[in-house]
Formats: sequence, structure tokens, C-alpha cells
Amino acid sequence: PVSRSPEMQEARLKLPILAEEQVIMEAVAENPIVIVCGETGSGKTTQVPQFLYEAGYSSDDSIIGVTEPRRVAAMTMSQRVAKEMNLSQRVVSYQIRYEGNVTEETRIKFMTDGVLLKEIQKDFLLRKYKVVVIDEAHERSVYTDILIGLLSRIVALRAKKHLPLKLLIMSATLRVEDFTQNQRLFTRPPPVIKVESRQFPVTVHFNKRTPLEDYTGECFRKVCKIHRMLPAGGILVFLTGQAEVHALCRRLQRAFPRTRRRPREKEDQQDSVGEMRKFKKSRTRAKKALSAMLPQISLDSYSVLPAGEGDEDREAEMDDEEEALGSDLDLDLGDEVAGEGEQPDPSLPLHVLPLYSLLAPEKQAQVFKPPPEGTRLCVVATNVAETSLTIPGIKYVVDCGKVKKRYYDRVTSVSSFRVTWISQASADQRAGRAGRTEPGHCYRLYSSAVFGDFEQFPPPEITRRPVEDLILQMKALNIEKVINFPFPTPPSVEALIAAEELLISLGALQAPQKAARMKQLQRSRVSCPITPLGRTMATFPVAPRYAKMLALSRQHGCLPYTITIVAAMTVRELFEELDRPAASDQELATLKSRRARVAQMRRTWAGQGASLLLGDLMVLLGAVGAWEFAGGSPQFCEASGLRYKAMTEIRRLRGQLTTAVNAVCPEAELFVDPKMQPPSESQVTYLRQIVTAGLGDHLARRVQSEELLDDKWRNAYKTPLLDDPVFIHPSSVLFRELPEFVVYQEIVETTKMYMKGVSAVEVQWIP
Ligand code: ADP
Ligand code: MG
Repeated sequence: PVSRSPEMQEARLKLPILAEEQVIMEAVAENPIVIVCGETGSGKTTQVPQFLYEAGYSSDDSIIGVTEPRRVAAMTMSQRVAKEMNLSQRVVSYQIRYEGNVTEETRIKFMTDGVLLKEIQKDFLLRKYKVVVIDEAHERSVYTDILIGLLSRIVALRAKKHLPLKLLIMSATLRVEDFTQNQRLFTRPPPVIKVESRQFPVTVHFNKRTPLEDYTGECFRKVCKIHRMLPAGGILVFLTGQAEVHALCRRLQRAFPRTRRRPREKEDQQDSVGEMRKFKKSRTRAKKALSAMLPQISLDSYSVLPAGEGDEDREAEMDDEEEALGSDLDLDLGDEVAGEGEQPDPSLPLHVLPLYSLLAPEKQAQVFKPPPEGTRLCVVATNVAETSLTIPGIKYVVDCGKVKKRYYDRVTSVSSFRVTWISQASADQRAGRAGRTEPGHCYRLYSSAVFGDFEQFPPPEITRRPVEDLILQMKALNIEKVINFPFPTPPSVEALIAAEELLISLGALQAPQKAARMKQLQRSRVSCPITPLGRTMATFPVAPRYAKMLALSRQHGCLPYTITIVAAMTVRELFEELDRPAASDQELATLKSRRARVAQMRRTWAGQGASLLLGDLMVLLGAVGAWEFAGGSPQFCEASGLRYKAMTEIRRLRGQLTTAVNAVCPEAELFVDPKMQPPSESQVTYLRQIVTAGLGDHLARRVQSEELLDDKWRNAYKTPLLDDPVFIHPSSVLFRELPEFVVYQEIVETTKMYMKGVSAVEVQWIP
């Protein structure tokens, strides 16, 4: 029996899905697999778990599991559902890679899809669950797709064992043919229940022309117009990344300040405009000086990139690859503070809030609260707001039509972040956000002709990225012929072969005999069995290359160091973004000194001599070691330019990896030592060998002087797969060393191809 508060009850009754409760629950009772489609905001995520709970689909020993592709959603939705049901978080809980609040009493468990995949490895039948709900299936995240494939089999197996498991697949779009029309996946197509949404009409306005470059400026002007001229109602702006979101927020806040400014502050405002100019100028000067020094390298559009390879870090893929691309856009925006028609106008306060996935949860929660009396709500978001979160009271949507995505080269896996047009389906999703509570308007900052050229749907993630981590996980589940797996959409044959080859070279899969191999390639069958090493690697929740490093580190007391390095390589964005415009003289000075300090810290952490050769990875190790040694405080991060959130994630991941290593190698008796001493000189040498073994296919050689036919090869490196030069980034501690051989974590293309996470290889050691 659930006792909801009257207000909650009332709010629920407004949700369209409430009208379908009976239909859904009857379908679930009669079918093992059911698909539920309903507009974002119709109540799927918050209500369906409650229906299941009330219908008795959970008991002491079997619970309701709900997977989300995003950590944010797993956390906020568990809180929301607990609150709606008046139950504690001990009963409605969540689990994401780094943390959770699941207890013995848990009956509804929200989790990321990666977490459920790991659970399948431990118990293929998922006996703990009576129902599994796969939420946001339309996002087609890699893990969602794999889970659906696996669950199609698990449901059948459970039926045989007379332990029926129910599977619900929930989607915000009606595009579910990949699930229903896929005979291999579901021999009998599951029923699809459509939830009629009480959607109000949304008038779509296209721009006559499509701005070529400055879509953020166009967003700003559009919001100003809406705010000045149109009746009350919240505004939701879609941009592509965190930096843009912040820049637009700042600009809007300045244009429509929430409190009446006293004259003195107005002067400050003018001052800060001047400062912005100064900053811009000094930057231009600095840029020029630099480019004179390093003609080939631009510092501007590069920042330290997310590793993006850990099992949940692909979350990055899904939303807003913040920070990855140029802060240039940002700078341009910041410069126009007092442009024409942009004088601060305090008579029209605007309640501006940012929303993106890396934003702290308590700040994300702000968007659900009503704006202060007399102000208009304006949320500036990345595509997190497209389907996973519904913001109340939105009447106007401003859609820049773009999204930032990470692209991988199929052959070389060089990745780059590109801002591209969205799909028509995404554009319609975005427009739909305007019609939740009353008729609304959507302003598309592109022409209808451009819209006509958009792809119809975004391609599923699995077709867009390397899949070695997936293949290893699947092999560990004894799925030998990966090619026969019931993927909703299979990855490309090239991607499968590349993954298999990497796994063979890492020793995780058995290499086939040559003849068999040829045959295999011809039939494009990927069917090499997993090795014992591969099994060990699969138990570590990190990408195969890093898992290999862990597996090799048993000797010479290297494990604690490898664990730390791997944890730090897996967590995104260790260093704070300092390459941003300052709003005042003071801020400018602070930023400058911080940049200098961070550069200094990096050098200190890298050390001298042998340890310096471990390069950027030594910096990671040093940063984590120093932070923990100093007590792991936010102040330490603040002082050294580290992101506190990243550091705490590293700490958790270190704990998790330590546990995982102890499980396969109990005699190591590892523990996370906050007072870890730096590695000895010989340990550093071992570490470099370990790193080389893991990253062996990411080897680059310094171009010799005689090869300098062309200036573009100056200070460049050559890799086996790429024809073009790759570089060590100026922020790397090896930038001045330029060792002959290096291995790198990954290559990201910005203005040039830069290697990230570089470490020197000992030439003698190269096999
Ligand atoms: P769907 O999953 O179909 O997109 P949800 O179940 O997420 O829909 O949302 C249903 C309603 O609950 C929406 O109107 C949304 O605004 C509201 N809601 C969701 N989460 C919260 C929250 N944390 N605080 C307040 N309202 C929320
Ligand atoms: Mg939802």
C-alpha cells in the first residue's frame, strides 16, 4: 500500500500515462515483453515503476530494476519516485558505477545500463529481478542495445526455468521497428502500447536564413526578443556544450539582471566590458607570440579530453561532450557584452539556469522549481533536455539545430568532437518540449530547406564507435560468435574485426590459425574464444587496454600505481577549464596565475629524470597521490586547478579497481593507501613497460630530421595507421622532451591531431 501525499496524487493524475495504467499492466501480465512508447514527460520513467510496484512485481528477494543510459537520470529519478511514493531511498534506490544507496530493503532499483550488464556477468539469469525496465530505449545507447539483445535470451531462459522475468522497453519515440521487426531479436513481436500524450500544438518558426557560424549569438538575440515581446512562459534553449551554455547564461544574465543595479555596479559592468576587451587583446597577443614560436600548433581549440572509454563514460557520447571543443566560441560571445540593444535591462528580470550532464545534481534540480516571483524562467541546456528530463512551464523553445558528438575514424579510431546538425526526429523532440502545459512556439535557427536535409533519425551509437569493450564483455558471457548476437542494430563488420584484432593483440582472445583466420575474415565471423587473461580483464570495469595494464601489474609492487593511473585515465576532465574569458580584472589576474600554477604543478608532479618519461601519466599519478596525501580536500583542488568531482570519482574508481584486483589476486592484499609513496625509479621503468603493453597499438615515432621535407612535420610524430602527422600537445610535460618513441592514450583531432596522455617508450625495450 502506497500512501502518497495529496499534492503528489494530484500531480500524478495529470500525467497521460495514468490513463493507461490498466492497459499497460494487463499487457505485462499477459506478455513476457512489452514496449511502451510515450512522449517525453508523459510519465513513463516516474510512473511505470510505481505501477509495477503496486501490482506486486517486487518482493523481499526479487525486485524491479530500471536502467537509464545516464547517471543523472538514475539518480534523480530514484529520488523523484521515492518522493512520489512517500518511501525512503532505502526502498527506492539507485546504483551507478561509483555509488549508490541500494539496501536490503530496496524494491525498485534505478541503475545505469552498464551496471546491469555487469550484473548479468555475475548472474546470467538475473534472478534478483522480477521485472527489468529498459528506459530511454530510443536513445539507442550501446549498452541499452546490448541489454535488449541479452534480455531477449534471458527472458526465454527464465521462462524455461519457471521463473518468469518481465521485460519492459520504454521509448520516447514511436520508432521501435528495430526492436519489433527484428526476427532474430524477438521471434514474436512484442506488443507496443502507445501513450497518448496531452501535447498542445507547437507552432514551429523556421529562420529564413541559416546563420553560418554564430548560432549562439542568434540564440541570444532570439531569447532577447521572446523575453521582450512575448507573453509569459518559460524559454528552453538548446545548445551543444557546457562552454556555450555558460557563455549564453552569462550573457543573458547581464542583459536582464535579476536585481536592479545600483549606479556603482553599472560602472563595474562597464569596467568588466573593458576588461573583457583587454583580456581578448592580451589573448590575441599571446596567441600571436605563440604562433610565431610554434607555427603549427594552436592552443585554443584543445582542452584535456575525457577518456571516454570506461564502461559508463560513454555517457559523454550521449549528451554534451562538454569542453571538448573550442572555447573560442565562448570568447567571441563574451566580447559582445554591451552590443547594440543589449544594454542591461533590469526591468525585465530573467531567471537564467544552465542544464547539462556534468552540472552538480543540486544545480540540476533548480530547473524543476518555479522561478522567483516576477521573473521568467530561461533554461539553457544541452541535449540532456531533449528527452531525459522534462522541465515544467516551457512555452518557448529556441533550437540551434546542432549537437556536439564525438566521431571516431573507423580505421584509426582517431576521434574528434564535431558540432553537426541534429536529426529531424531530434528537432521534433526539441520542439515538443514547448507544448507540455499549453500551446507553445519553437524557433528553429535554421531554414526549412536545411531541416529537409537533416537525417531522419540519429544513427544508433553502436554504429558510431569502437566496440572492443563490448566484444570483450560479450566474450566473457561466452557469446563466441558475436556476429550472430541479436543486436537491434549490429555494429559494422570493420568495427567488429578491429575490435577482435585489438583483443587478440592484447592477449584477451585466442588468435586463430592463419588459414582459419582467412576464412573467418571472408565470412566476417568474429568467433575467437576468450583466453584466461581475457576473462580476468573482463572483470575490471575499464576499457580493455587499461584492463591489460592492470593484469600485468602484479610484480614489483606496481599494482597500486597502475590502478591509480588507470582510474585517472578513465575519469573525464581531471583539470579544470582555465581557458575561459574573465569577467573582471580580478578574475583575469586569478585565471592567469592559476594557469601558471597548474603548469607548475604539472611539472612538479611529473618529476625529473626517469619519472618524467612516464609523461602525462606520471602527472596523473602525481596529482592523485598529492591530493590524497594532502587529505583529499576541495581546497587542494581549488589551489591546483583540479576538478574536485573528478578527483572524488577517481578515488571511488580506485577503490572499485582495488576490490576487483583483490578478487582475482587475493594474495596481493591491496588497499587504497592515501599516503602512497611515489614509485621508485625502477618501478617507473616497469610502469612504462606496463603502459606500453597496454597501449602498444598506440605507438608513435618522432619524425627524424631527414624526413623534414615539409614544414608540417616539424616536431611531429608518425603513427603506423595515419598518413598525417600527430603531435604532443603543448600542455603535455613531454612537449619539450619530444622522446623518440611514445605511446598515447588516444588521438583527438582539433586544429591538428594531438596525442593525449603521452608517455615515453624505452627504445631498447620495444619488442
Ligand atoms: P517520461 O519518462 O515519460 O519522459 P517522466 O516520468 O520523467 O516522463 O516525467 C513525468 C513528469 O514528472 C514530468 O511532468 C516532469 O516534469 C515531472 N518530474 C520528473 N522529475 C521531476 C522532479 N525531480 N521534480 C519535479 N518534477 C519532476
Ligand atoms: Mg523518461
